[in-house]
Amino acid sequence: MGRPMTSPRPSTVCVLGAGGFIGSHLVERLLADGDRHVLGVDTESRKIGHLLGRPGLEFRRFDLRDEALLGEAVAESDAVVGLASLCNPYLYNTRALETMESNFLRALPVVRACREKGKRLVHFSTCEVYGRTLAGFAPEGSGFREDPANWLLSEDRSPLLLGPVSRERWCYAAAKQLLERVIWAEGRENGLRWTIVRPFNFIGPRMDFIPGVDGEGIPRVLACFLEALLKGKPLPLVDGGAARRTFVWIGDAVDATVRILDRPGAADRRIFNVGNPANETTIAGLAALLVRVHEEATGERFPHGTRSVPAEEFYGEGYEDSDRRVPDVSMARTLLGWEPRTTLEDALRATVPAFLKAYGAAKA
Ligand code: UDP
Repeated sequence: MGRPMTSPRPSTVCVLGAGGFIGSHLVERLLADGDRHVLGVDTESRKIGHLLGRPGLEFRRFDLRDEALLGEAVAESDAVVGLASLCNPYLYNTRALETMESNFLRALPVVRACREKGKRLVHFSTCEVYGRTLAGFAPEGSGFREDPANWLLSEDRSPLLLGPVSRERWCYAAAKQLLERVIWAEGRENGLRWTIVRPFNFIGPRMDFIPGVDGEGIPRVLACFLEALLKGKPLPLVDGGAARRTFVWIGDAVDATVRILDRPGAADRRIFNVGNPANETTIAGLAALLVRVHEEATGERFPHGTRSVPAEEFYGEGYEDSDRRVPDVSMARTLLGWEPRTTLEDALRATVPAFLKAYGAAKA
């Protein structure tokens, strides 16, 4: 609508992992633009059930190990968004081989197909590649800990600080980091056109699953807390909930992704943090805010509170936590004109009713 004919925006976008949380929101947004062809690929379609059959969406159900079908989908597209990934922390130290296979070995053919067919790749990596912050290693009050240079995570400046191999939690970040390095080298040596996104804790409706209802295992923190709220149990705070995170509303994150797709000149061969530095909280703080938002949404007091649980008991052996994750988003701000706008409270206000609607029956 009113777009110049010379616009470089891709008309056919292949979304690998279209059936996941981020994929479902990205596909919804691309279809809303009205003039794109979306080639959605996944083995699962439950989260995009409401989009199947819409004009503009072609859904192909196959496993990315099928390299012939992958090659066809890439060949038919202008840009490829790589979202397919096993990305739940409880898998990293319990099913490490599968985690690394999914995030490195199965992602390699996607990179190679894009290089061979000359297609742009927008690859979703993770903020977890940063690992822990330098500040987290210093004693409090030393000045070193307080200096933003030692905790603000910046794409091209911050070191990537992963823990020991015996702490299997880091296998996911190691696999993701190696793939980032492959993509970088494919660009430099073979001319691949790429952009890497490092997501910082995206939240919103359709995130993860509720254990025992539509999945098994331990989802990420928001779904863990929502499970507790739905089932009337105390919210579990791993090691007291002192770790800090920044959470970004999925709508803001999708907006950044679409800007990356539509502005290849600004986005090519760059890594972008996508997160909301203004939404920083401790996990205990997230629990308190979520309980309040849930009480507002249901009109009922939640009497069960929180409970602290040792990390080893919650996740098993080999877990270790990132202490703090605040993204420097100046790159996205400057090059994409992007600004995350949604407060944590507003994001939760939009998420809680969606979960109550989707899982209302689980409550009973
Ligand atoms: N966490 C928690 N209770 C839960 C689930 C997670 O306190 O029920 C903590 C976890 O230890 C970490 C933070 O919440 O400090 C975020 O965990 P998540 O699984 O969402 O993903 P991460 O940000 O670590 O990738």
